Amino acid sequence: MKFELPKLPYTLHKLEPVISERTMSFHYGKHHQMYVNNLNNLIVGTEFENADLEIIVKQSNGAIFNNAAQVWNHNFYFLTFTPKKGTAPNEKLAKAIDQTFGSLDKFKDEFEKAAVSIFGSGWAWLVSDDAGKLSIEKESNAGNPITRGLNPLLTFDVWEHAYYLDYQNRRADQMKALWDIVDWNEVSKRY
Ligand code: MN
Repeated sequence: MKFELPKLPYTLHKLEPVISERTMSFHYGKHHQMYVNNLNNLIVGTEFENADLEIIVKQSNGAIFNNAAQVWNHNFYFLTFTPKKGTAPNEKLAKAIDQTFGSLDKFKDEFEKAAVSIFGSGWAWLVSDDAGKLSIEKESNAGNPITRGLNPLLTFDVWEHAYYLDYQNRRADQMKALWDIVDWNEVSKRY
């Protein structure tokens, strides 16, 4: 198999109570795994058979794009989290967040609003452009801002499968809770 689930730097119960072990076992163990399996099957005999994941996301469409982008997005999403408490943006990222959004708290508020306002399934993103300028982007379904030349720093999954077992219809509560497990060291490295 060409693509595989990424190894996580934490065990599945470690993000509790923000994300339960049960949600992780379905979201990572079944949904994410399914996108990986689908992608491996779909690329056989196509121009993407030996391509890197990022190239497939940028150049494919239809079912190959949907599954490749969902693999990329979930790899990125799960590696954004840590059970460690108290991580913070580094100086460079903190300064950019202050300049763009006013403060880290104002950024979080704006990001949550964006995530809650996505109609149906999708992803909320913090990205930077070539000049280092930050923005919040909303994507539907498997959408990924690398297809528009942007550099992702952080994403929250707003598909119901990401939160329904723990939060049911309360997407806003899940978004607010996720800040407790964001690994700002990892997010800072991406900037
Ligand atoms: Mn998901």
